[in-house]
Amino acid sequence: MQPASYPTVILGGGFAGLFTALYLSQQNYFHPIILIEQRDRFSFKPLLYELLSGELHSEQVYPRYKELLAGSRVSFVQDTVQSIDLHQRRVNTASGEFDYSNLVLALGSKTTYFNTPGAAEYAMPFTSGQQAIALRKHLHHRLYQAIQTPNPEHRRLLLTVAIIGAGPAGIELACTLADLLPIWYDELGGDGSEIRIVLVNRSREILKGDVNSNLRCTVQRAMKNRVVPVDFLFDAAVTKITSDGVEYQQNEKTQMLQAGTIAWTAGTAPNPLLMELPVTQKRGRLLVKPTLQLPDFLEVFAAGDCAIDSDNPQPPTAQVAYQQGIAIAQNLKRLRETKPTIPVQIQMRGTLMKLGLNEGVANLFNKLQIKGQPGHLMRQGAYLQLLPNSAHNFKVTTEWLTDELFQRHRAATPMQLGQTPWLSGVATAAAALILATPLVWRAAQPMQFQQNLIWTGVPTLLDHLAPPSR
Ligand SMILES: Cc1cc2nc3c(=O)[nH]c(=O)nc-3n(C[C@H](O)[C@H](O)[C@H](O)COP(=O)(O)OP(=O)(O)OC[C@H]3O[C@@H](n4cnc5c(N)ncnc54)[C@H](O)[C@@H]3O)c2cc1C
Repeated sequence: MQPASYPTVILGGGFAGLFTALYLSQQNYFHPIILIEQRDRFSFKPLLYELLSGELHSEQVYPRYKELLAGSRVSFVQDTVQSIDLHQRRVNTASGEFDYSNLVLALGSKTTYFNTPGAAEYAMPFTSGQQAIALRKHLHHRLYQAIQTPNPEHRRLLLTVAIIGAGPAGIELACTLADLLPIWYDELGGDGSEIRIVLVNRSREILKGDVNSNLRCTVQRAMKNRVVPVDFLFDAAVTKITSDGVEYQQNEKTQMLQAGTIAWTAGTAPNPLLMELPVTQKRGRLLVKPTLQLPDFLEVFAAGDCAIDSDNPQPPTAQVAYQQGIAIAQNLKRLRETKPTIPVQIQMRGTLMKLGLNEGVANLFNKLQIKGQPGHLMRQGAYLQLLPNSAHNFKVTTEWLTDELFQRHRAATPMQLGQTPWLSGVATAAAALILATPLVWRAAQPMQFQQNLIWTGVPTLLDHLAPPSR
């Protein structure tokens, strides 16, 4: 057993791991904290669509860990974990070994292609900032090729995007591209109406088993109302991906959809490292106690997409992962103070979805849906508040407000969306001001904001929708 003076080691710098590290660092936790993560940048996954479209930029939603952790007491190690020895309390990485007193497992999940031939080679996953940027480059390249292609059949292939999977990521990506690509193509001198976005799904049901499933009607309406409507291929089991399309089985017939871009959002699998651990798992997620500790290794915590408390299962979302990270930090502190750890309470505050450029839906407490442009502003404002560092959060929120007011990242022209330009501009500016002023104030002066506005109920509403980052 390692002495208590060994560091607390956190594996994985996603929502669960990064929030654990930052909150520990802020809590007078006087033990070394090491965060081991394979990438150099944090991917704010709910806002990857904005990174793809250019509505938000890399520094905002794909920041470097070095910047996020500057001034904290967290040592960042960019390295790949290769194995974990829970009995020896040791982590092996590509470049060395780390002994620990406490360990946090926050390694998330990985994309799975369900052994579909060709998928790993030709389909583009969409789960990180790097992949969002790669997809953006690929799409630009396809549009340039299309504009130079006289052959209408080949042009049709180049301008068709197939998105595999009608879960939230597939739908949000489809809605974003159905607004964005016609605009990009128009700018090149092409005819935006030639763009085709096809959502391919194994079943007839969209958002099957997802926390957003009660938004189905809103989502279906939004998909029809994009700059180019999203097409569907339902009951289509993908059997092969090739360099120029998707082979699928529908009604017992094998068919082919020609497409120049294939994006894969269809499935996630457990992190293979965790499968090797001598602990109980449920569908590849580590079974944890209500305190998020492993039952047989109480010095080890697990959270986010890679963990599950079978008595109180939570969906694999960022909303759950960051709250668990904060709770683990509190429990780690209690452990070191020899106090008992406490069960973790997760507050589900409703859901948010992007349904196109400047369109979204905020589903508050499953009671109220705020849709359209106000839904979009609420969604972006709420997520930007979650950025895991208050200096970064303040900078990004003010940049976003300026962009919304001056419509800098407005890719879809109001004309194309059938709106009067000045009316749309004034409405956006007013809505952005109303929604963002409290967010910016809270990010800059949290105490003052709370004291001055508590009587209005606004701080409580925002705390429910997007808790402060400190
Ligand atoms: C496109 C997309 C959109 C989403 N939108 C939403 C949304 O709107 N709302 C919402 O609540 N949730 C959303 N989610 C889900 C949410 O992002 C995840 O539930 C959340 O990121 C889980 O956090 P995590 O910390 O458990 O895992 P992750 O965020 O996946 O982090 C795991 C980290 O571990 C690192 N890692 C893995 N293996 C190793 C290794 N061997 N060595 C070192 N490091 C390793 C990874 O690089 C990664 O940084 C979305 C997900 C995607 C992909």
